[in-house]
Amino acid sequence: RARTLAALRDLPAVTPDGRRVELAVNIGRPEDIAAAEPFGPEGVGLFRTEFLFLDRSEPPGEEEQWQAYVAAVRALGGRRLVLRTLDVGADKRLPFINWPEEMNPALGWRGARLGLERPDLLQAQLRAALRAAAEGPVSVMFPMVTTLEEVRRLRQAVQEAAASLEREGIAHGPVEVGIMIEVPAAALAARTLAGAVDFFSIGTNDLTQYTLAVDRTSRQVAGLYDPLHPAVLRLILEVGRAAEEAGIWAGVCGELGGEPLAAPFLLGAGMTELSMHARALPEVKQVIRAVRYADARLLAEELVTLPDGDAVRRRLRAFLAGVG
Ligand code: PEP
Ligand code: MG
Repeated sequence: RARTLAALRDLPAVTPDGRRVELAVNIGRPEDIAAAEPFGPEGVGLFRTEFLFLDRSEPPGEEEQWQAYVAAVRALGGRRLVLRTLDVGADKRLPFINWPEEMNPALGWRGARLGLERPDLLQAQLRAALRAAAEGPVSVMFPMVTTLEEVRRLRQAVQEAAASLEREGIAHGPVEVGIMIEVPAAALAARTLAGAVDFFSIGTNDLTQYTLAVDRTSRQVAGLYDPLHPAVLRLILEVGRAAEEAGIWAGVCGELGGEPLAAPFLLGAGMTELSMHARALPEVKQVIRAVRYADARLLAEELVTLPDGDAVRRRLRAFLAGVG
């Protein structure tokens, strides 16, 4: 019954009742796009740019970053690239950053918090991204955002980068500006934040860690780490509904986005983009093509009321068995 990879590749991810979902891939370097092509990605939903910054004593300059970003834009040939700004923290220490001592690095100076205090690093990256956008669609996405004030300052930084390129007569394109939703407060404030951004992309890896207070890297508490915990699902549903009301798009770029079992829930929560490991794409597409959007919406409302992650999994399995 499973279609071959090739047969699925060129079919759209659309539900039987006509809801379209964009299926994109997560990449860590531009070459990953070529490797993902057999799986038929419609774009890149998360470009983790850390590879450019790791294992070196000086940060990469604007030119070097531009080369990497424009390589990805060209490889995509008109499909969207969601480029995430540098997401390091005190656990991933770069030698050219003066790190504070922190007891809880995951709750500390990381992601956009760091970017806002290192405008030199942020401006070089934003200028490189804006220049790459001259050759194809680029969306800039900021990690670890919590407050509306941060969003305002980050948007201001994008404007500054564009203005400086304009002054210098350097070609650049317009970009969508969005944020990752990976802090519970941002999910709960989604209705406020939605008015200030072009899109949300939910980072379910960190959102799960912070919602459940379970270190995602600790083996000791790994048994408590569950992205399908109803508390996490409630936050995702809230983000989806807020995005709908505001008329912006919302997607998932954490691991849950590549989980076929979770796809009916994410569809029903209003996600219109799912970004994942390339290999996961065909199976997720098969689920989307089998599930009615109207049913998925009702299912999503039901799942958030269940007592725990196991109950959620049982209900999802029964639901998927029912759609054959
Ligand atoms: C996430 O937190 O879900 C995410 C996609 O970002 P990262 O895994 O890079 O922290
Ligand atoms: Mg994250």
